[in-house]
Amino acid sequence: MAKVKNWQIKREMEYRYEQNRPKRQWAIVFDLNKCIACQTCTLACKTTWTSGKGQEYMFWNNVETKPWGGFPLGWDVHVLEKMGSQEWEKNKSLAGKTIFEAAEGSDEIAVHFAPEDEDWMYPNIGEDDASGNVPSGCAYALPHDNWFFYLPRTCAHCTYPACLAACPRKAIYKREEDGIVVIDQSRCKGYQECVRACPYKKSMYNPYTRISEKCIGCYPAVEQGKQPMCVQNCIGKIRIMGFISTPENAREDNPIDYLVHKKKLALPLYSQLGLEPNIYYVPPIHVDTKYLTQMFGPNVGDAIENYKKIRDDAVAQGLFTLMGCTDKIIHKFKVDKQLVTAFDESGSEILTVPTSEPFIERKSYDKYIDTTRNNTP
Ligand code: SF4
Ligand code: SF4
Ligand code: SF4
Repeated sequence: MAKVKNWQIKREMEYRYEQNRPKRQWAIVFDLNKCIACQTCTLACKTTWTSGKGQEYMFWNNVETKPWGGFPLGWDVHVLEKMGSQEWEKNKSLAGKTIFEAAEGSDEIAVHFAPEDEDWMYPNIGEDDASGNVPSGCAYALPHDNWFFYLPRTCAHCTYPACLAACPRKAIYKREEDGIVVIDQSRCKGYQECVRACPYKKSMYNPYTRISEKCIGCYPAVEQGKQPMCVQNCIGKIRIMGFISTPENAREDNPIDYLVHKKKLALPLYSQLGLEPNIYYVPPIHVDTKYLTQMFGPNVGDAIENYKKIRDDAVAQGLFTLMGCTDKIIHKFKVDKQLVTAFDESGSEILTVPTSEPFIERKSYDKYIDTTRNNTP
């Protein structure tokens, strides 16, 4: 094991390989306050990458309703239960153990969980369910306040991937040019160690080809300066893909750095597990912060307060408006006089849009077609 620096848990930790950060790191930010669980992202990925034999059950991108949904079933609950209660220090560094550290002394590289075949069979279980199917039929039997939210998930192209660390064939590697984690299909022998080790359960086994597969970060699009299919096709415009810097190199004009490091609006998922995952979430503002703290860490309350303030912040508003406006990767953005401009890698303008959209109230009577429209409550 080597000592590596993990900025998300604010300390060094044990990992199988030496620290070797890529030249740049692929990342996605999701605004969970806007996801409508339309599953367009899921289908965009499915029709592009997983329509082949043995891939029928695979959803490299999925959207689950929290707290009751999960694909595969209980993917997070099992690992969290095995890890037990973990604490954060006052300075918000992790006091507890990562999944790599907790496995020390065992034959395993990380604390893991192996889903059964049946666990992959219900990708939409718990959708729109705030009650956890309490069988009594009594609304007062809710085990918590009545809330739920949608959690879209892809592979996090982790800085310290458990899938990569666990592979005995060294078939998994992290691309130097963008940090995307891929499986070399010619080296994989289908041992499924990656499926067991990934705590996010984003490496999947193809029983037809007998090798493992996973989200490829849409690298063919990324190589052409385009955002992934699940991002391009997001109906709710809740996503933006770009490249994240380490905190000490964060740039104010890089959209991902701005949201994660500068404004501290977006947080990693289960960072306490120690993988430095590179999908980041603006947490939902209506959900119990105890639950959210377990999921997004000790900064979740601050992120929610920061989000509530963005209606008075033209720069942040401008950036949120840019989400979903272009299929190109935005390397830089600038806000000036209520206009926000996005730039590509070469510094050329991609597009300019207003920082906020006008509010237009349509009259109920339409004189052009002589009809009256009513809103139905
Ligand atoms: S999310 Fe899982 S599959 Fe993806 S890089 Fe991390 S450990 Fe590997
Ligand atoms: S990045 Fe591409 S491969 Fe990965 S989940 Fe999104 S669409 Fe699928
Ligand atoms: S397409 Fe966007 S809004 Fe629809 S489910 Fe996916 S992430 Fe949510």
